[in-house]
Amino acid sequence: MSAGSLPDALRQLADYADIRGASREADDWRQLAAGREAGEDDDRLRDFLLEGSDAVVLRARSELPRLIRRLLETGALDSAGALWLARHGVVTAADLNAALSEARLPHHPHVPATGLQTAAEVIARDETRVPLGRALDLVEGVTQMIRASCPEALHVCPVGDVRRFEPLVDALVLAVGAPEPAAALEAICALSTWQGVLHRSADRALLAYQGAEIDVRVGSPPEFGTLLVTTTGSRPHVMALQARAQGISGCAREEDVYSRAGLPWIPPELRHDTGELEAAAAGTLPRMVERAHIRGDFHMHSTYSDGGDPLAHVVATAAGLGYEYIAITDHSERSAAARTVSPAALARQADEVAALRERFPDMVILHGIEVDIMPDGLLDFPDSVLETLDIVLASLHDRAGHDPATLTRRLLGAIAHPLVNVITHPLNQLVGRDTGYDMDFPAIYAAAARTGTALEIDGAPGHLDLDGAHAREAIAAGVTVTIDSDCHRARLLDRQMRMGIGTARRGWVEPRHVLNTRPINEVRAFIAAKRTAKR
Ligand SMILES: [Zn+2]
Ligand SMILES: [Zn+2]
Repeated sequence: MSAGSLPDALRQLADYADIRGASREADDWRQLAAGREAGEDDDRLRDFLLEGSDAVVLRARSELPRLIRRLLETGALDSAGALWLARHGVVTAADLNAALSEARLPHHPHVPATGLQTAAEVIARDETRVPLGRALDLVEGVTQMIRASCPEALHVCPVGDVRRFEPLVDALVLAVGAPEPAAALEAICALSTWQGVLHRSADRALLAYQGAEIDVRVGSPPEFGTLLVTTTGSRPHVMALQARAQGISGCAREEDVYSRAGLPWIPPELRHDTGELEAAAAGTLPRMVERAHIRGDFHMHSTYSDGGDPLAHVVATAAGLGYEYIAITDHSERSAAARTVSPAALARQADEVAALRERFPDMVILHGIEVDIMPDGLLDFPDSVLETLDIVLASLHDRAGHDPATLTRRLLGAIAHPLVNVITHPLNQLVGRDTGYDMDFPAIYAAAARTGTALEIDGAPGHLDLDGAHAREAIAAGVTVTIDSDCHRARLLDRQMRMGIGTARRGWVEPRHVLNTRPINEVRAFIAAKRTAKR
């Protein structure tokens, strides 16, 4: 930094304190600056000089919200511009994008609109979005902590992208309902957990936590419903709802917000303004799948392939979840996984599964495989091996440099195979890194529906695929889906199943569309129907 004179550096610290909403600290720095100009001396000033004023200013900058810090570092804004943004409540990338799209920032002589647009592009390139798995860890941890240690907070609810099960989360947001919002915010900010209070206003605090930013919004109970709706988003949904209701302020419950618009409550996973408001108005909202509908899980790995836990532990954990059935599905021999299962190991696994069936008589254990669809379109194991299994999942893990048409042909080949029952994570999406294969999905859905092959909605946080939009198209085309954990750690079986369910709900999926909501005899019939159809 080059703050120029010492009083300038002190004033810059005052500006940074203002941006963080720490107005008393800002006053202190300004007083110090004025005193210095008047030739006064001060202990604090001596400390400041000993530490090196540059280092102090740089450290103060590191305590700012990430957005502000980046804008200062890149020179997109000076501290006056940053302070102006903060005063308008723009302290996160999500705030900036919302402000720009709604064109609600007034003109500022030093901050041209093009500068803000550039700033938004800089921030977008930073790719600061958090994968849903990590986001859930963070917000659930913080929620429990606030509930346990801040009695002032009556309701604490994770909202924003997390509540809508977005695979990549823009902002980690909590809505807090409290009879005395200011006191609750004070208590939350005073918790020793935070690495810093990055921004503070009357009804909001941005807190540094484990390398992320937690955005806490507080409201009083009579307006908590409005707070929940506006913080849950999405923005297009909220704006469309606002237009229908002609204003949504002052509602105690979410239901009140929707009823003001003449609508029933709409589940968060549907809130994208992609037809849910119209469906609500027509009384045709889907009755969506829930955890209680799920009877089993068709996709999990053990140490036979790249799973982290021995088979017996995986099975015991699944039994503890009350599942009626599960399928054990390790990776086939030539899959690119870190460890895979050979036909010989698969035979050993069959023996272990037989022994486990005696230990867990109340749960059906299907012995299966996640077999790779090889670059030549053939399956990794011959039919003579696959025939010995109860269920076969097939997957296109390896793009093999193929174009969309070739990938589609490979997948259609597997769908046509009489021994293949489920196609796992059909897009092969890698959340945050790869949006997955661009295939002929209408052809794939039609073939899956025609042949009685299920397409999977995979709950592994790296996949979340079929994603909501694809799942919605698939069920509309008559496809049966499965919702699976694709678990590689037994302790994550339930959590990844829940993420799969959230993803399915984003696709308007109802229990009738889902194979693993059905009793085991219907599952067996689904598998048998395809095996016998072409014999
Ligand atoms: Zn897989
Ligand atoms: Zn898998």
